[in-house]
Amino acid sequence: MMSCKNICVEYKAKKSYHTTYYGDGVRRCTECEVFIRWNKIRCPCCGTSLRIKTHDSKLRRRLLSKK
Ligand SMILES: [Zn+2]
Ligand SMILES: [Zn+2]
Repeated sequence: MMSCKNICVEYKAKKSYHTTYYGDGVRRCTECEVFIRWNKIRCPCCGTSLRIKTHDSKLRRRLLSKK
């Protein structure tokens, strides 16, 4: 069930060698199979909840153990 309306192409995150995906405001839409620059929870295109992968699990663990 693809509900992609090609709106996401306008928000598409450009690949860069200096910044990683899942950086600031870059999210992944599994429905559109695209990385977009978008700060909201849902895809502006298909409305699917976007993935934010936590790259830095070490940092996360540190934050958790800090408590
Ligand atoms: Zn789309
Ligand atoms: Zn989408």
